[in-house]
Amino acid sequence: MDTKSVIVIGAGLGGIAAAAHLARRGAHVTVIEKNDRPGGRCDRISRGGHTFDTGPTLFIMPHVYEAEFAAMGASLHEMLALQRVDPTYHLVFDNGSKLSLTSDMKSMQDQLETFEPDSFQGFLRYMNEGHQHYHQAMQHLVNRDFRTAGQFFNLRNLPLLFRLKPLSPHYRHMSAYFDEPRLKAAFTFQDVYMGLSPFEAPATFSMMSYTELAHGVWYPRGGMYSVVEALVEIARQAGVEFIFDTSVERIDVNATHAKGVILSGGQRLGADAVLANADLPYVYDDLLPQDGQAERLKRKRYSCSVISFFWGLDRVYDTLGPHTLFLADDYRRNFDQIIRGLTIPTNPSLYIHAPARLDPAMAPAGEDTLIGIVPVGHMSEHEDQDWKAIIAQARQAIFRRLDIVGIHDLQEHIKFETCFTPISWRKRYNLVKGSTHGLCHNLTQLGYFRPGNRHSRYHNLYFTGASTHPGTGMPTALISARLATYRMVEDMGA
Ligand SMILES: Cc1cc2nc3c(=O)[nH]c(=O)nc-3n(C[C@H](O)[C@H](O)[C@H](O)COP(=O)(O)OP(=O)(O)OC[C@H]3O[C@@H](n4cnc5c(N)ncnc54)[C@H](O)[C@@H]3O)c2cc1C
Repeated sequence: MDTKSVIVIGAGLGGIAAAAHLARRGAHVTVIEKNDRPGGRCDRISRGGHTFDTGPTLFIMPHVYEAEFAAMGASLHEMLALQRVDPTYHLVFDNGSKLSLTSDMKSMQDQLETFEPDSFQGFLRYMNEGHQHYHQAMQHLVNRDFRTAGQFFNLRNLPLLFRLKPLSPHYRHMSAYFDEPRLKAAFTFQDVYMGLSPFEAPATFSMMSYTELAHGVWYPRGGMYSVVEALVEIARQAGVEFIFDTSVERIDVNATHAKGVILSGGQRLGADAVLANADLPYVYDDLLPQDGQAERLKRKRYSCSVISFFWGLDRVYDTLGPHTLFLADDYRRNFDQIIRGLTIPTNPSLYIHAPARLDPAMAPAGEDTLIGIVPVGHMSEHEDQDWKAIIAQARQAIFRRLDIVGIHDLQEHIKFETCFTPISWRKRYNLVKGSTHGLCHNLTQLGYFRPGNRHSRYHNLYFTGASTHPGTGMPTALISARLATYRMVEDMGA
């Protein structure tokens, strides 16, 4: 691709990684990012010595990062200092019972059997199934693209219908392993990352709880934003040019090709190919001529959103581990209210992250940095949502839950608060409906059914990122970048 020029729209994880791949193949790559820094949803804010990762907090699937860094000619372990987080999560239930998910099998056995006799055997069988699902799904569905229907619907893929249990709802499937509802919740809550309720998600997603326990949840020194910094370094070394604080207003197209982009100031930049990392439905709706596809995409299902609080505290609460998850008893209603009601659950499950437990540099000495995340419905196109009231409810829900673990006075120790809502997600990163994980990952929006990495009409317009194939998540964004750029390189005959 020596003489080819490529414009990448957006410096999210997918955009930076794609740019690095292309520059390493000899292309002249310019990344245009509307914000003043790279990272997209994997963002960071700092204030008064407190550092907050405002998006991802869990570094999972380390093998995927290793492979993807290697594919960009870099070593993950030379660039990032990773530590394993074990126990991964401290789960807290409404009645005050606790479960620490850990790779220490003796501890798991002791804990699980206080919830339900013989449940450790069920857990081992569930992990075994998660192992099968993980490896089969990664090989056959995630780590490859589907350019034609025939590549997806063929006899070789037929056994996956049985092996991956895509037609069994995940929560119902849990009855094969546990009777205790709290245990069923403990190993299905990860479905929300896919934008799905476990009551409708395919049982395939047991792969998520499996990988978290088997391969671990990790933490890079300096926080998750260090991943962005590492990727930018790889890209810059390969020769990628970044332009920040500049929005792409339109992709300049003719009948069959993208000719370049038009920037918000009206400047036109030509390119041999364009790769869009901005949220795919936004690209169709805002950056391309209307041809019905944007409307079709709007009717697809979107993942939930979250309200995130970033608090600088003047003291430390030692009782809080790095990742605490409060799981509500009315588990099903929680998902119904988020996904169908597009609102905040009456008694929401929620997540608290205390990064200074993993890296003391994330907070000033003797103080703490706390992130509280409450899943809520995404923005509605048809109904008014009272975000002020929803934010107040979310904040109170966190304080109520912290009471369960003996923290009664958090409000008195908050030095400052920053809050992200679905409106912030949309405004900051152009995420359609403020949906934090993009198009959701139900069966009809996966594999061949998910928007692919190349536009069907404009043959030199490519996509990478959460709403395209294979889907949401940091490691997945890196895979998506590789699939999109390898396809581009193939198309360009280099
Ligand atoms: C709250 C939250 C928690 C998460 N937790 C985890 C986790 O723990 N672990 C995990 O693996 N994943 C997690 N994720 C998912 C993960 O962050 C994303 O899947 C991943 O970062 C998406 O990257 P992307 O390549 O789609 O780019 P994006 O992050 O979507 O970046 C796209 C970029 O395009 C830019 N852009 C948009 N429009 C324009 C325009 N017109 N012109 C120029 N630039 C434009 C945006 O500003 C943005 O920088 C989380 C996400 C959120 C929001």
